[in-house]
Amino acid sequence: MAETVATIMDYPLTLNHFLERMNTIFPHVEVVSRHPDRTVQRRSYAEIYERSRKLAKALINTGIQKGERVATLSWNHATHLECYYGIPASGAVMHTLNLRLSPHDIGFIANHADDKLLIVDDVLLPLYNAFKDALPAHRLIVVPFGGAVPDGMESYEDFIAGGAGPFDYVTTDERDGCAMCYTSGTTGDPKGVIYSHRGMMLHSITSAIPDMMGVSQADCILPVVPMFHANAWGLPYTATGVGAKLVFPGPHMDAESLLELFEQEQVTFSGGVPTIWLAIIQALEAEPKRWKLVEGLRTVVGGSAAPPSLIDRFESFGIKVLHAWGMTEMSPLGTVATVKNNLLDQAKRYRATQGYAAPLVDLRATGDTGEAVPWDGKTMGELEVRGPWVASRYHDNPGASDRWTADGWFKTGDIVTIDPEGYVQITDRSKDVIKSGGEWISSVDLENAIMGHPAVKEAAVIALPHPKWDERPVACVVVKEGASLSQDELNEFLSGDFAKWQLPDALVLIDEIPKTSTGKFQKVALRDQFKDWSWDEQRQAV
Ligand code: AMP
Repeated sequence: MAETVATIMDYPLTLNHFLERMNTIFPHVEVVSRHPDRTVQRRSYAEIYERSRKLAKALINTGIQKGERVATLSWNHATHLECYYGIPASGAVMHTLNLRLSPHDIGFIANHADDKLLIVDDVLLPLYNAFKDALPAHRLIVVPFGGAVPDGMESYEDFIAGGAGPFDYVTTDERDGCAMCYTSGTTGDPKGVIYSHRGMMLHSITSAIPDMMGVSQADCILPVVPMFHANAWGLPYTATGVGAKLVFPGPHMDAESLLELFEQEQVTFSGGVPTIWLAIIQALEAEPKRWKLVEGLRTVVGGSAAPPSLIDRFESFGIKVLHAWGMTEMSPLGTVATVKNNLLDQAKRYRATQGYAAPLVDLRATGDTGEAVPWDGKTMGELEVRGPWVASRYHDNPGASDRWTADGWFKTGDIVTIDPEGYVQITDRSKDVIKSGGEWISSVDLENAIMGHPAVKEAAVIALPHPKWDERPVACVVVKEGASLSQDELNEFLSGDFAKWQLPDALVLIDEIPKTSTGKFQKVALRDQFKDWSWDEQRQAV
């Protein structure tokens, strides 16, 4: 009998396909960038296509080899989008450097990645100058984003002009690297992940489907999340893959500037971390009539837990919040909190969870024994993941191989519950969980609830060592201007949702919660701030 084999072409999934579509199907779609002087520049997909290919050819002309790293140090703008396509089209790997890190850390990361060529915004040259000596020989190309390129430096415009003329794509296997990011972790050395063309294509297509981010060519997408943080959650690729208009905010990331751009460009979809949305909702509430936003505006909130009160406040302005969970190691999308049809009567509860797995992503929760721990009708433990866009190892870092299980799952470090409907709820990072008298208290649950108090602007809950209970929760709170809050008031507010032993043992009012380079609460820094904490002194002070 004849052997039965599939009769389908073996067509590689590469980003070059999306780049071609930008020109053949959506040539007139706009990419808008706001520059440092606040002027707005418009390019069409056809122009981005032309310029990305010129960049690819210029890189090949300079001798960049397949798989070598070409770094960007840039804000969100159209030229950065050209790097998203042009660098992989040359066969190289685009490495986005995080401009919010210290020069010391950027130097470490660029060195570790062995970046051969750096494409840097002119306005970021002072930052570049502060770490460049840490790098071996490399070539510098300067993007005239803020104005002119300083004398003696090589302009991006001149560089890509050298790539004019016909261009043949480099032969690319779908498993080849296309992009690279380092984790923004708060402990240990940053670790690099190299994404594959295949993973990135599957991630982009899956992200776009209606029950995930649900974007189409009818959308106007503004990624607030930086293009140096997990590829701006893949939004530049997802948006161009479906043919949506893109709007890039450049360096103006304050709430008023963003709202102005939302209104001016009629943005329909956005994405960013909760800190950004907290600032935006405060601006909207202070002046509800000032900005005319598109009806039905949707926004993805992720990167840290979106407090339910934040979701409700946006909802009252008719803005739909999609809560999503992901990681740098996952390209980054893992779950989205779409409410399933059979759960619509509990929509409020489910949309505040981290959601259920994206297609092609497998999830499981594993306890210390390697088995899932049953808990209140759910399973509980550390979240482990696998899928076609999940990292299988870190770049050049064999020491970190303990993040993968023997049977090939990636250990996320997030402690979760998974309910029978598949919804994941993050209760903590494994290192943030509070262990009191042998029981666990979720710092995330406490923070979410505290942020619902009308006097509270921001709140983080940390575990501090306790002589009797091992650890006890301490609430670090920033109150709104002119507001006040006592511990009794806070605990009274929380007592409906928490058992007495779960309530914070102390409330500390602070001016600001320290944040990481990607806008997450930096609890390590908070714990450090209170390392000399004494419960006795605290008791006397009250
Ligand atoms: P990063 O690699 O910088 O994107 O950080 C990934 C980590 O951010 C995850 O492991 C989670 O701890 C946290 N995180 C991301 N999204 C969420 C979310 N929606 N809710 C709670 N934590 C989140």
